[in-house]
Amino acid sequence: MSFLNLKQVSKIYGKFTAVKDFDLAVEKGEFISLLGPSGCGKTTTLQMIAGLVTPSSGSVTLDGRDITYTAPAQRQLGVVFQSYALFPHMTVAQNVSFGLEMRKVPKAERDERVKETLALVHLSALADRYPREMSGGQRQRVAIARALVINPPVLLLDEPLSNLDAQLREEMQFELRRIQRAVGITTIMVTHDQAEALSISDRIVVMEKGNITQVDMPYKLYEHPRNDFISNFVGKSNFLSAQVEADMLAIENTAIRFKPEQAVSGDKVSLFIRPEKLNLTAAGAGHVDGTVATRYFMGSQWFVTVATPAGQLSVSLPNVGTPPPAEGETVGLIWQHEDCRMLAGGAA
Ligand code: ATP
Repeated sequence: MSFLNLKQVSKIYGKFTAVKDFDLAVEKGEFISLLGPSGCGKTTTLQMIAGLVTPSSGSVTLDGRDITYTAPAQRQLGVVFQSYALFPHMTVAQNVSFGLEMRKVPKAERDERVKETLALVHLSALADRYPREMSGGQRQRVAIARALVINPPVLLLDEPLSNLDAQLREEMQFELRRIQRAVGITTIMVTHDQAEALSISDRIVVMEKGNITQVDMPYKLYEHPRNDFISNFVGKSNFLSAQVEADMLAIENTAIRFKPEQAVSGDKVSLFIRPEKLNLTAAGAGHVDGTVATRYFMGSQWFVTVATPAGQLSVSLPNVGTPPPAEGETVGLIWQHEDCRMLAGGAA
């Protein structure tokens, strides 16, 4: 049996099902992200693990114990929310020590644990500061330290980095992963940021309208998304819905000089291809021709959209020092066989 298990967990509000038959087995030390658009049920699921929301049906077990109806305080889990919720009148050390005082941990042990935890989150030098004297990233580290100091079996994070600006957010993602690995703590994080989920999770649970649509390791999710929702939500994708005819694809009376390897003539297929797997070539030399519609310079890469008879396709090109063809130019688009995939769900 896994460390944390959710079995057929549902939450129904009146006639509205916020979470439906959620099944997940989490191993000890795993970092799991719940990823999905706003309103898909991520926070509700996290709150059912925390004990802040009672499931309408199903069960939650932790380390072999059924905790479905256990009060939040008794679960002893570490919880960090988007708003850091620090006590403003307490120093960093006092904020971190608070949970230990509540648990009547003797002062000497308290001081030792606070010291260790502040060292872990790289805040030892700021122990005597007040929250108002700190940056957003530093405050979030305090919130994490406060959650970890009680040695919880599970750390629950609800959009922990969403109040931070883009650069700090990226830095804190790696910090969060470093801290999680150092402690080896089982962690469940809610996020709607796919890049964040991809970069720091062991596994990602993709949710849509209260349901789990796919659970996978980040690179597998990216390479083998189950449907078009996932392939577009996790990274960017181009879609081709086409009929296979002899050695080409027919899309709206247009022939694309390409045939997916496993498809046979007459098949209707749903294909996707990532922008970084498309390449530009001379008109007539690729699988399909089109006109460059937009061209943006992104520093390490160029992002180009090409209008083709099969729809607008996005191309991401590494920056090799010279710009790609300009808007209005006719180009060919080419890709490798193995990079143009059928959605994991199969033929359309
Ligand atoms: P976000 O990213 O916006 O926080 P989320 O995926 O975390 O979204 P939840 O907060 O879990 O979504 O909410 C899931 C659905 O359940 C939403 O449609 C929400 O309106 C609904 N919901 C949540 N709490 C309640 C409640 N107490 N009563 C009725 N409906 C609720």
